[in-house]
Amino acid sequence: MPSSLSDLKDSSWLARGPVDPAAFHDTLLTVDTHVDIPLDFATAAVDPGKRGEAQVDLIKMTEGNLNAAFFIVYVGQAERNPQGYKKAYEEAVTKFEAIHRMAETMYPDQIELATSVRDIKRIRRNGKLVALIGLENAFSVGTDLSRVDDYYERGLRYAGFAHFGHNDMADSSRGLERLGDKETEHEGLSALGKDYLASLNRLGIMADVSHSSQAATLDVCRLSTAPVIASHSGVKGIYDFYRNLSDEELVAIKDTGGVVQIVAFDTYLKEPPAEKVEAVTNLREKHNVSAATWPTLSKEDKAVYQTALEEIHKIWPRASVSVLADHIDYAVQLIGIDHVGIASDFGGGGGIDGWMDASQTPSVTQELLARGYSRRDIKKIWGGNLLRVMRDVERRADK
Ligand SMILES: [Zn+2]
Repeated sequence: MPSSLSDLKDSSWLARGPVDPAAFHDTLLTVDTHVDIPLDFATAAVDPGKRGEAQVDLIKMTEGNLNAAFFIVYVGQAERNPQGYKKAYEEAVTKFEAIHRMAETMYPDQIELATSVRDIKRIRRNGKLVALIGLENAFSVGTDLSRVDDYYERGLRYAGFAHFGHNDMADSSRGLERLGDKETEHEGLSALGKDYLASLNRLGIMADVSHSSQAATLDVCRLSTAPVIASHSGVKGIYDFYRNLSDEELVAIKDTGGVVQIVAFDTYLKEPPAEKVEAVTNLREKHNVSAATWPTLSKEDKAVYQTALEEIHKIWPRASVSVLADHIDYAVQLIGIDHVGIASDFGGGGGIDGWMDASQTPSVTQELLARGYSRRDIKKIWGGNLLRVMRDVERRADK
């Protein structure tokens, strides 16, 4: 393990003159491992080819040189009963189809779906944006592991275990009271979760531990036959929050040869002041906003809520790109430059001061340069490491 952060930062480029951050950023292959999409994504209502309210669209990706994004097939955890499983699967399929529709029907001249590292490189050479697919919450797999093969055929290349709330595969880093979750249900991975992991390894789908409990994360790292990723997490060493990774988890991921994608999520990066928490809580109550009610609110109600929320952020600012870099520094210092990357969680609550949408992506590169990371290091952080892991997972697949 490196003795200090300064050992890891190659500043030899300084001798060759200053780097223009914007010009350098445009030379990078940038990969964002977590972009959430709504159920009506890639329709007239949420058109990725038009400049809209979404933090990620094709225009903003191009403007910010955000080249590749994992679009996420997410479903919320609900009751584990036949209706719950059925709805989760239907929503997952809707999202898979939306991502294909964007890339294959709506904007094939601008973006293409990649299912391998070779694809990613070829698509970039052709000057197009790259879409990839990740799964958040294996609830949509239910208890039927043949669905993993189904999802692989639909383009899935990384897959998580739980979201908020335990499921049949694994314990979450936070159980849900409304679903009757106890502190732990499986003490980590369940027997089914272990078989699910084996399916991911067999097919060459990266296993993602973000949102899982520490015990589940350590189980995945111990049992996986291929490198493991955390697709969007912060580090507890900077902010001890349940969604962040402990040093033990960071080291376990590194020991698989994997990568930790540090997430630009305000409330995971720094603790908000109590007054802000109270103001947001009151606002949510006033507008009846919760994870459960959000999908049922009208566009107008959501807009009113968002505007009021922005006023709160003006009083107590969000975490900045500098705080994101603090988490990156910590992870680099503990597990090395080859095991750290970046994720936005745009569309899923992500967004920090300086990086509120895909068009502002260069500010992250600028911050890393200002901290003394070499161009070689930044290439690794922005996608080199993730691509190495993805290639390694592909090679170890047993198809
Ligand atoms: Zn998430």
